[in-house]
Amino acid sequence: MRFLDAGKGSQVDGMAELKSYFRRFGYLPIPPENTTFTDLFDDEFENALLSYQKNLGIFETGKLDSDTMKVIVSPRCGVGDSDSYSTNGKKVKTTRRYAYFYGAPRWVRRSPITLTYAFSQTHTIDYVSHSDVRLAFERAFARWSAVIPVNFKESEDYSVADIRIGWYGGDHGDGEAFDGVLGVLAHAFSPENGRFHLDAAERWAVDFDEEKSKAAVDLESVATHEIGHVLGLGHSSVKEAIMYPSLSPRTRKVELRIDDVEGVQALYGSNPNYRYDSKLESDISLGCGVDLERRKRLMMWTVTVVILEIMIFLIHLI
Ligand SMILES: [Zn+2]
Ligand SMILES: [Zn+2]
Repeated sequence: MRFLDAGKGSQVDGMAELKSYFRRFGYLPIPPENTTFTDLFDDEFENALLSYQKNLGIFETGKLDSDTMKVIVSPRCGVGDSDSYSTNGKKVKTTRRYAYFYGAPRWVRRSPITLTYAFSQTHTIDYVSHSDVRLAFERAFARWSAVIPVNFKESEDYSVADIRIGWYGGDHGDGEAFDGVLGVLAHAFSPENGRFHLDAAERWAVDFDEEKSKAAVDLESVATHEIGHVLGLGHSSVKEAIMYPSLSPRTRKVELRIDDVEGVQALYGSNPNYRYDSKLESDISLGCGVDLERRKRLMMWTVTVVILEIMIFLIHLI
């Protein structure tokens, strides 16, 4: 791969295209009028690369190393990552892990909030049955409503639904053209826009046993991610989080992680029926809150062990 291990000062064929990729996801500004990106690995590109590595949870080397190249070539969401430059006029504010769109917009409705969603009748795919599509979305919406006091209800009326879901190909009039197979998979707009678009050029799957294509993309995983955007979440740098921007083909990733839950609950509060689920902790490592919980459990465990030892000791004495 020609970019591999390129660093500052190198001149590499195709670097201009890579810069456009970085521009597209918010890491570089549009080049000044009547100029184009050059093939030079310059300071500006190095800064862009460092902030990309930080946002995507990759070791911050400032070089196009193999870990970075792997992430760059994986399929991903079309919504930008960085808070430096906007891709569609909407800036994205990044925090260490979860992030919001600029200004942290959310759906403002009288509580309990119910948002309606509808599928376009015209922008559809024909090789997955409509009932399978509906079920995949129903499960995806349910995961978010389990943690926040927001309900989602399917509506027949696409024109007035809060969230409008459809498959589109190439340039489809919102300034965020799709790019064919893989690359960008889908995008959704920040609150309270409600547009939710999937790239019609992908091979969408609801069941990998039936869909054998190597490039197949799991519909439910992408739906769960894009609903996060619809609710107001930006991209997370936590690889295991639903809101991480990339998803490999033939991969199912549908469970919210603690990072997603904390992010969305900071916007909407907690669903009163939500109970902290220890399954969420498998992505551990990352949250201080989680570490604290783990430490508490560890302490209880230690206490239990000590008590057991004392009992064993006493039994021996008897
Ligand atoms: Zn996204
Ligand atoms: Zn679109």
